[in-house]
Amino acid sequence: MPSKSQELFRKALSLMPGGVNSPVRAFRAVGGEPIFIASGKGSRITDVDGKSYIDYVLSWGPLIVGHCHPEVVEALARALQSGTSFGASTAAEVELAERIQEAFPSIQRVRLVNSGTEATMAALRVARAATGREKILKFEGCYHGHADSLLVKAGSGVATLGLPDSPGVPRALAELTITVPFNDPAALEEAFRIHRHQLAAAIVEPVVGNAGCIPPRAGFLEKLRALTAEQGTVLIFDEVMTGFRVAFGGAQQLYGIQPDLTTLGKIIGGGLPVGAYGGIATLMDLVAPTGPVYQAGTLSGNPLAVAAGLKVLEIIHRRGFYERLEAVTEKLTEGLKERASRCRVPFTVNRVGSMFTAFFTGEAVTDYSSAKRADAGRFAKFFRGLLKRGIYFPPSQFEAAFVSSAHGDEEVKETLRAAGKAMAILAK
Ligand SMILES: *Cc1c(COP(=O)(O)O)cnc(C)c1O
Repeated sequence: MPSKSQELFRKALSLMPGGVNSPVRAFRAVGGEPIFIASGKGSRITDVDGKSYIDYVLSWGPLIVGHCHPEVVEALARALQSGTSFGASTAAEVELAERIQEAFPSIQRVRLVNSGTEATMAALRVARAATGREKILKFEGCYHGHADSLLVKAGSGVATLGLPDSPGVPRALAELTITVPFNDPAALEEAFRIHRHQLAAAIVEPVVGNAGCIPPRAGFLEKLRALTAEQGTVLIFDEVMTGFRVAFGGAQQLYGIQPDLTTLGKIIGGGLPVGAYGGIATLMDLVAPTGPVYQAGTLSGNPLAVAAGLKVLEIIHRRGFYERLEAVTEKLTEGLKERASRCRVPFTVNRVGSMFTAFFTGEAVTDYSSAKRADAGRFAKFFRGLLKRGIYFPPSQFEAAFVSSAHGDEEVKETLRAAGKAMAILAK
């Protein structure tokens, strides 16, 4: 008898490309078929067959307080009573903008949009308009959404599926995107030398999440800041994943670097569709209606997304939130290392705050090339071993896993027990 998930997937395959609405959900890189989720509560999700899992995907990052946090549910219910969308200004969006500005001193003005993709696309447009230049620089394995200019050597699903740069992106546009390896200051200097005074923007995930979790080496972001400042290139920190995740004020707070523009998403919508871009006033005032750079959205600043986002920001701003989150995550990653070493499986785990990735390699993972050298076959087996035991990890080597405040010692214990068994099988 096929499971309900299997039945649904069969039907979905005839209705949607690959049966999914976003590629990595199809489990292509890890084998097997995707589970269909019926509900989530706290740290756990339940599939349509009634099996429960500890969730380390958390909607790919937004759910930093877990599923259906009672305060978030209440805030959403209240907002719902007042109307779902007006396409006009509301008090709550002003409040969210204020919260964002307080958390990110580099953001003097912010514009809310509906996804991270929209945010990075608009940020690039502002940078190109401000500089009158067309070339942009990005880093191999970084993913900034699926806008044409940014689908060059991209991470996330592009890396997961091993796709070449996407067909459908005009070559003329792709040629304007220069890529260099992450964490390689010499390559960075070389790119700035070759394209001297021609780069409109440099965009980076300050902690890479979309090639798996890869922290910046000491001095790397500083070098990027110095080179962009020297050449009048707009520095964009894509903090769609890291914003409010690695610290309340994002990676820019953690590493003490001020970008010119920042993109946000995920956590600021509390699990509803959202994105934002913002930065120094002189750049953001180029955006219409103040300036000529056009960008608009029917549902931008949506009252439900804003209500959820505001509540999540309130919860995570409470004393000790990040300390506890990080302590739980560290216990988990240290435990994974310990079990891998007991099973004599070559293993590296990268972690920044409450995001991490397990790589099956004895080598340090510092960029996209070293991430690709990890044993993806082993990762797939590990993933399936965990899934079978009720642990839901990201179904790809090239994605970060996340911990929420709903995860605690019990979840860590249960996860490590499952991981120990999954690794023991790998060792054979
Ligand atoms: C998720 C993500 C995006 C894309 O956001 P969407 O809301 O999926 O369009 C962009 N940049 C980074 C760093 C991300 O992690």
